[in-house]
Amino acid sequence: EGHIEISGLSKTYRGVQAVDRLSFTAGPGRVTGFLGPNGAGKSTTLRMLLGLVRPTSGTATIDGRRYTDLPNPVRRVGAVLDATAAHQGRTGRNHLRVYCAAAGLPYSRADEVLELVGLSNAGNRKVKGYSLGMRQRLGIATAMLGDPRVLILDEPANGLDPEGIHWIRGFLRSLAAEGRTVMVSSHLLTEMQSLADDVVIIAAGRLVRQGTVAEILATV
Ligand code: ADP
Ligand code: ADP
Repeated sequence: EGHIEISGLSKTYRGVQAVDRLSFTAGPGRVTGFLGPNGAGKSTTLRMLLGLVRPTSGTATIDGRRYTDLPNPVRRVGAVLDATAAHQGRTGRNHLRVYCAAAGLPYSRADEVLELVGLSNAGNRKVKGYSLGMRQRLGIATAMLGDPRVLILDEPANGLDPEGIHWIRGFLRSLAAEGRTVMVSSHLLTEMQSLADDVVIIAAGRLVRQGTVAEILATV
């Protein structure tokens, strides 16, 4: 469980080739970094994997199925594409409860994920008072509601201070150690060094290379 497979994946937006015949895999027990400059096609790829953007050709699957065909998708895959998406006027706990209701999960799950990301003491505060690091944690808490086998994060370290990045690193490591699949994008090699075990590098929508962080660093 938890196998991501991208195969011959392409996306063209009105003449812009955002993703170009991309193929790679990511699997359980590893934090896989997805590295490329801004505009390389990372978000588009992750959105295709999550069924939010339709591929022009090729496939993006989790455990052999497209996201839209997965039974119990919230239990298989969690994602944070935009950590600032939470409703500003709600408390962190109420934000999570709305998602619990939508996913058919008990409200007690909101408190469990607040605890998981270290936000128990902030659950009664409104999201508009949260720092960027706290919003990122709330996004991760939302993604973890269904206790998914796969966690996908788009630029989670963007704008965070070193303490925030340190927390994310520890959290992602613990998920991988539990045998989950973690995929995390960034446009900075330095972030990949601290966050990931393996790295998939893309540029202009195409695969440049895939290897362990150590292998990649040995050749740059
Ligand atoms: P990254 O996440 O690596 O920064 P994106 O996937 O966001 O890259 O973008 C890849 C390319 O596709 C860019 O040229 C971007 O401008 C373009 N693009 C992304 N989304 C759309 C869209 N909805 N419509 C048109 N072009 C898009
Ligand atoms: P899809 O083909 O995945 O349904 P669309 O091509 O309909 O996506 O694009 C969604 C919206 O984003 C459109 O209104 C498009 O004009 C707009 N858009 C255009 N250029 C970009 C860009 N560079 N990055 C993000 N969104 C863009």
